[in-house]
Amino acid sequence: TKWVYVFGDGRAEGSAGEKNLLGGKGANLAEMCSLGLPVPPGFTITTDLCSHYYANGRTYPDALKTQVEAALDEVGRVAARRFGDAGQPLLVSVRSGARASMPGMMDTVLNLGLNDETVEAIAAEAGDARFAYDSYRRFIQMYCNVVLGLDHDLFEEILEEEKARLGYEVDTEFSAEDWQNVIALYKGRIESELGAPFPQDPHEQLWGAVGAVFSSWMNPRAVTYRRLHDIPESWGTAVNVQAMVFGNRGEDSATGVAFTRDPSTGEKALYGEFLVNAQGEDVVAGIRTPQNITEAARLAAGSDKPSLEKLMPEAFNAFTRIADTLERHYRDMQDLEFTIERGKLWMLQTRSGKRTASAALKVAVDMANEGLITRDEAVTRIDAASLDQLLHPTIDPSAPRDIIGMGLPASPGAATGEIVFSSEAAEEAKAEGRRTILVRVETSPEDIHGMHAAEGILTTRGGMTSHAAVVARGMGKPCVSGAGSLRVDHRKGVLLAMGQMLKAGDTITIDGATGQVLKGAVPMLQPELSGDFSTIMSWADEARRMKVRANAETPADARTARSFGAEGIGLCRTEHMFFDDGRILAMREMILADTESDRRAALAKLLPMQRSDFVEIFEVMAGLPVTIRLLDPPLHEFLPKTEEEIGEVAAAMGVSAEKLRQRTEALHEFNPMLGHRGCRLAISYPEIAEMQARAIFEAAAEAAEKAGKPVVPEVMVPLVGMSAELTFVKNRIDAVAKTVMEERGITLDYLVGTMIELPRAALRADEIAGSAAFFSFGTNDLTQTAFGISRDDAASFLETYRTRGIIEQDPFVSLDVDGVGELVRIASEKGRTARPEIKLGICGEHGGDPASIRFCETVGLDYVSCSPFRVPIARLAAAQAAI
Ligand code: ADP
Ligand code: MG
Ligand code: MG
Repeated sequence: TKWVYVFGDGRAEGSAGEKNLLGGKGANLAEMCSLGLPVPPGFTITTDLCSHYYANGRTYPDALKTQVEAALDEVGRVAARRFGDAGQPLLVSVRSGARASMPGMMDTVLNLGLNDETVEAIAAEAGDARFAYDSYRRFIQMYCNVVLGLDHDLFEEILEEEKARLGYEVDTEFSAEDWQNVIALYKGRIESELGAPFPQDPHEQLWGAVGAVFSSWMNPRAVTYRRLHDIPESWGTAVNVQAMVFGNRGEDSATGVAFTRDPSTGEKALYGEFLVNAQGEDVVAGIRTPQNITEAARLAAGSDKPSLEKLMPEAFNAFTRIADTLERHYRDMQDLEFTIERGKLWMLQTRSGKRTASAALKVAVDMANEGLITRDEAVTRIDAASLDQLLHPTIDPSAPRDIIGMGLPASPGAATGEIVFSSEAAEEAKAEGRRTILVRVETSPEDIHGMHAAEGILTTRGGMTSHAAVVARGMGKPCVSGAGSLRVDHRKGVLLAMGQMLKAGDTITIDGATGQVLKGAVPMLQPELSGDFSTIMSWADEARRMKVRANAETPADARTARSFGAEGIGLCRTEHMFFDDGRILAMREMILADTESDRRAALAKLLPMQRSDFVEIFEVMAGLPVTIRLLDPPLHEFLPKTEEEIGEVAAAMGVSAEKLRQRTEALHEFNPMLGHRGCRLAISYPEIAEMQARAIFEAAAEAAEKAGKPVVPEVMVPLVGMSAELTFVKNRIDAVAKTVMEERGITLDYLVGTMIELPRAALRADEIAGSAAFFSFGTNDLTQTAFGISRDDAASFLETYRTRGIIEQDPFVSLDVDGVGELVRIASEKGRTARPEIKLGICGEHGGDPASIRFCETVGLDYVSCSPFRVPIARLAAAQAAI
């Protein structure tokens, strides 16, 4: 087996197409080499080796050592150096690289191969001992932390003490001798911590680092990250070993990161940051404040530190050319890492850049207009779920703002919440339903939990490419980073802001679009579809086959749904309509009535109210289909609970409170979700369904007169398990329709259909289709009944199921395609066999979930229906499923 793939010198054994085998980083390094770009030579150990490693008790296959030795020789040949050589030593970095970028993975080890001997060779060769010893101490620090598991702080402490002792402000002031001193102190500390000296043998160092990368695949951070991002454990990580180039070789050296377009706005302009005389993670770690790459960005930021464009024009020009080449080659916005060693540019990484949802829209639309990609491609480029970010509120520009700090606009959107200073506190608050802003000096991968739990993130240090900024953008959370005027005092647990002291629990608002930090809560504006968003939506609409409807039960919902492009209502629940003041009393009278005639009397009071609900919704939805579900929940949900409520109803009905209490108790159910609900109510009390049907038909007639265009009401009978149930209710509905039409001398188009939410209904769908003009898959209940898991009680064990690997995803969030999906498939096929023109749709929570929508396309459903705010997501996901 070939475990090792070499790249360098304009050639590579791998390519960008082999991300599964080489990981994203390795595949793209190979590709850049083949494109003839300046990339330090190196090699990639495959992800297959990672799988082999875990399948064989964390051991390597025999062939690996020889392949790695041969690759090291080849890299040395290209670099004109030898690994472990005392004259011209080859130094390497060891970099992890999974298929999908994973910030939870092992940190990169740089300068590997340095020891007491090779450091002298590097010093002599460079004619710069300061640089050599700076590299050595960095290596010791990183290696000890990443490979040997020593706490980073051990070394930071020593460093800070030395800095203080010598009276230095920044690390770059250390001389060669100072660093030698620091190294001696480091070594002493290592011996006392580990009982063994720092490993001097470069080969031992290399295998130690390789082993650390493979082990890191299973570290808790990585495991959590994979779980949150649905990355399978079986993928494994690759290891990249690459010849070092040095951005810390003096004032003509630098290291940086950049995007080919602005990752926040999508604007077509090179965008990035760099640091002079620095290495690796210095830029993102927020150790010094980084400088802008372009002059335009420097001016826009009002920074007085020179841009790369001014400082190193040649390297800058080379870099802009390469950025352009890579963007055209990959046909997507790229995220680049580079280093400049004594004026010479080296590329260290390229990948598709993470971007905000609005940047994604702009980049996709621009690239389609530039002819770089097709419109269909533009549509598939947008992560449908990420649109959620744009469908959230922003700060009302006319609202007064009490600004207490200013940082970088690191991830757009606005958020209000209580201050919390730790990820734990954010999670605790979330569990209690409280909204928080996570306030940190800087975040690290350990904070991912807390960032998920918080509404927004505020850091006092770090740039636009800091951990907080990158992760927040990925999550679609508002973030303000590097708010330098704010100070977090951990000991006191306070945030100091322009002379004010804020405590944990105080409310603040952050505006990720401007970088402002505001005191208190601030009014927000609702989002709308315009510009690039509406362009993408129109391209999506051209591509999609399925219709998108909304679940809406008020005129306001219906209006929102239409403004987001809904093509009808897929589920209008009627129960909430009975909870309004004034109605609940009539409803209770109806439920508690002893005789049918009493019940009809109470229902007569409800009829006009119910009709007026529908008239308004039908007017908003003029010309479109509206599915109305008959009363579904068990009756006792409407019953009076308090003594006061019981008294009120008793008085209205002219019965004693005692009698009422007895009747209430008689309605008690042990298992109401499987009890007297759904069509069972319509069978026990047909007059309820009849009243609702009358309200619907009369409203349809009225609305058609007012709005000109009629809606086509689709009357939906819930919780049908047997065709006889549906036939019974349908006969009543049809009779009412006939009466209303005769009374008014008009004809009405309407359909009667059912929800498929019980396994039996799915299995007998052909028979049920005999009386159903449509099926709507109620996948919430269908998931409950197929799994026999109560949705309301699932939280206590589903998370355990996930962590123990029993299930990959919550089936109430993303449709269980294998089981529940199979029922949907069976019912669709049987329904179509019995009635070819049957309309099929889905109205469960899953109707707004992109993965579930993809499944609906494979089954050939006619439409999906979801909450109004998810309509644009569903439109896009339906298009992506069809492309
Ligand atoms: P991550 O996946 O966390 O970005 P990388 O493996 O990309 O980690 O390494 C982080 C940084 O380390 C790179 O951006 C680069 O600045 C530096 N680095 C990695 N390998 C080398 C190398 N061979 N020479 C110089 N710098 C390197
Ligand atoms: Mg990187
Ligand atoms: Mg249901």
